[in-house]
Amino acid sequence: MADTLITSEVDFDALGKQTGFLRLPHSVHQSAYGWIPVPVVVVANGDGPTILLMAGNHGDEYEGQIALSKLAQELEPAAVCGRIIILPMANFPAAQAGTRTSPIDAGNLNRSFPGNASGSPTEMIAHYIEEVLLPLCDYAVDLHSGGSSLYYPPTLFRGRGHSAKETAALEAMQLAFDLPYSWAFGGGGRGSTARTAMGAANRKGVISVMTELGGGGAVSGEILALTERGLRRVLHSLGMLPNYQPDAARGTREVSVCGPIYAYDAGVFEPFKAVGDPVAKNDVVGVVQTPDTPWRAGVEVKSPYSGMVLCKRVMAQVKRGDAIYQIAEDLV
Ligand SMILES: [Zn+2]
Repeated sequence: MADTLITSEVDFDALGKQTGFLRLPHSVHQSAYGWIPVPVVVVANGDGPTILLMAGNHGDEYEGQIALSKLAQELEPAAVCGRIIILPMANFPAAQAGTRTSPIDAGNLNRSFPGNASGSPTEMIAHYIEEVLLPLCDYAVDLHSGGSSLYYPPTLFRGRGHSAKETAALEAMQLAFDLPYSWAFGGGGRGSTARTAMGAANRKGVISVMTELGGGGAVSGEILALTERGLRRVLHSLGMLPNYQPDAARGTREVSVCGPIYAYDAGVFEPFKAVGDPVAKNDVVGVVQTPDTPWRAGVEVKSPYSGMVLCKRVMAQVKRGDAIYQIAEDLV
């Protein structure tokens, strides 16, 4: 066991369904001997792989939090082959506050791996996931959305794999999740230096994917249904929910991200493009309007890329350095 200060109310080696909290010691003015309760559920039965299902890595991304809570309620050990570890609110203080980062330490969990056993609460959670949970796992799924500032259509992100076996496993997870879009990117592997949960999974040799599922700080019923369906399809494809009957696959559009388009001026952004729209290089994709100086013309924003809009900023106000679109091109 790694040198974590977090204690678990569930025994990851026991069979059956257990619920409880990871207790993160947090001594503060109102609670001298207190702990932060990170909810955890483990369902284990028979032979099979171990998978970590995680949401609330960013606290303002909700479809995954709901989908994993419903899964935790519905899973019965007798239906499971293997071990399913569920963390619906991984950075609990952020998820409780409904913010991307933790209100306790301003920590962005997905920029905090490999974490620190005796660091801030966010660093301690990152360390626990990387050094205690992921070494138990064969697979991991980290459910994100665009958060408060961005909107993504349901999209699966994955690495390309560093061996034929790893690539085949990642492709199988993408096929099983069956989201409308996917992006396979380079990098990763055992030597990954990424500060993300996917980087942590790569360092531990865990086959992992992440998703972007809507955003804007809202919940879409349609995307939630796709998420719940996708999780069950993934578990079934791994042999962990053998009696689940998947419906027909709907297909995934594979894209490669070209990069973001940034605002370079402050103001209110008038978008000319919606998610899914085609974009040509040098297209005017919108105008930064300045109603504080209404007699001055707005500033046009042009695309440095050709492709399609994969992701769009939700918040209207922009300042220099804000990403307003993410542009991707179809894989050929
Ligand atoms: Zn996120």
